[in-house]
Amino acid sequence: MNMKQEVVKYAKMCSNSGLTVGTSGNVSIRHGDMMYITPSALPYDEMKEEDVLEVDLRSGEVVHGHRKPSSETPMHSHIYAKSPEIKAIVHTHSTYATMFACAHKPIPPVHYMIADIGREIPVAPYATYGSEQLANYAVETLGDNQGVLLANHGVVAVGSNLKDAYRRAEVIEEVALLAYGSYTLNSVNPLTEQDLDNTLEGFKTYVSG
Ligand SMILES: [Zn+2]
Repeated sequence: MNMKQEVVKYAKMCSNSGLTVGTSGNVSIRHGDMMYITPSALPYDEMKEEDVLEVDLRSGEVVHGHRKPSSETPMHSHIYAKSPEIKAIVHTHSTYATMFACAHKPIPPVHYMIADIGREIPVAPYATYGSEQLANYAVETLGDNQGVLLANHGVVAVGSNLKDAYRRAEVIEEVALLAYGSYTLNSVNPLTEQDLDNTLEGFKTYVSG
């Protein structure tokens, strides 16, 4: 599978799993100084390999592709520019995570699955979608985390490959749902730093063998 096919595959998975609705959200993979990114305003079920855009990360210009690149292209470019180890980004408006983003409330670590994303999922300040300002806020608030909420907007998950970024987008939505439930039950019990460190150690062992 080439990188454009991979972008299409995960974009469709976002749609089929309900993480994105309609044409919201976008997916990209970095390749050297380039990125492959989903087009703007094209329903995922119609998306084909040739619709994926190749964008130069330094200039922001489309190098290959006949469609308009995702409106969040500046945000993807800024995140890649800041962190060389980030190789893939998934952006969604998934319901429960976006609920926290609308409430300007970080998602607390109520489930251990959050451990390899961050100590909580923080909220970047609001800025208009597609703007440089939003891109800057997203980068600043993401920091060393692997996921961030965008106030009154949605979710960004990152990784060293698209599989990890996608999985994190799913986990963020799942933990948001569990946190929402915990608030509803009036008993929110965040894990401690130590709990999360221990979980992370476990993940490493799991991954390596
Ligand atoms: Zn969006």
